[in-house]
Amino acid sequence: MTELRDRLAALHDLQLIDSDILQLAEQRRDLIRRAKALEAEREKRGETKREKDAAHKQAQVEHSARETELLGEQEKLEKFHEQLKIAKDASDYLAYEKQIDTTTERVGNLEEETIELLLAIDVAKETLDAETAKYEAFVKASNDERRKAAAAVKKHDAAIAARKQDREAHAQGIKPAARDEYERWRTRRKTTMVSRVSIGETTEQRRKIPTYNCGECRMTIPPQLMLQAQSYDRRYACPSCGRTLYVAPVEEPVEANA
Ligand SMILES: [Zn+2]
Repeated sequence: MTELRDRLAALHDLQLIDSDILQLAEQRRDLIRRAKALEAEREKRGETKREKDAAHKQAQVEHSARETELLGEQEKLEKFHEQLKIAKDASDYLAYEKQIDTTTERVGNLEEETIELLLAIDVAKETLDAETAKYEAFVKASNDERRKAAAAVKKHDAAIAARKQDREAHAQGIKPAARDEYERWRTRRKTTMVSRVSIGETTEQRRKIPTYNCGECRMTIPPQLMLQAQSYDRRYACPSCGRTLYVAPVEEPVEANA
């Protein structure tokens, strides 16, 4: 019954097209996932860079505040010195002297702190510069990669569209009932319906095959079942996975239109 054999061959080809489409779609998803991951990573690194930038600015603000404080204390100190010169009496003099002592000490502390804060600015700047360089290098690399991914997605879209057209054309040659059965199987079982059993393309290859295996689940097909399946008097199923066995006729080239 070559009609059954041809139908199974057509369904098997349809399966190959569908498996191509699925694979292309999976690759496309991976590309998009990767591009999204890169975007998230860039966002994260950008956040770190902004934190370092804020820390640097904060160090500058602290330094400038301390410097203002220092200037204020220095002015006070000058004023106390002026007042000391025109002290009215001994107690007045002592009071100014005490003010001068405490203010001098405060000025000394503030000078030290100002220097420390200046060094902190340098450290923060170094950290910021390093982070900025890292960020910019990442952005450059990830932009390249994202551009490549976007181009690859486009290519996949085109390939999927082309394969879908192939499918359309191919499916038209299959009887609606057989197509419906195939579609139902695919939807329900989420897997292939026809299993191709390879018997070798050439006599040489055929001699080398010791046992025949289900093309999908790899289970050995008993010789008797092989003979039955090749008679195509009706459909025979793989005893292991239940898929319909399809044995391609030897005369035909195997990769006809995969
Ligand atoms: Zn099987």
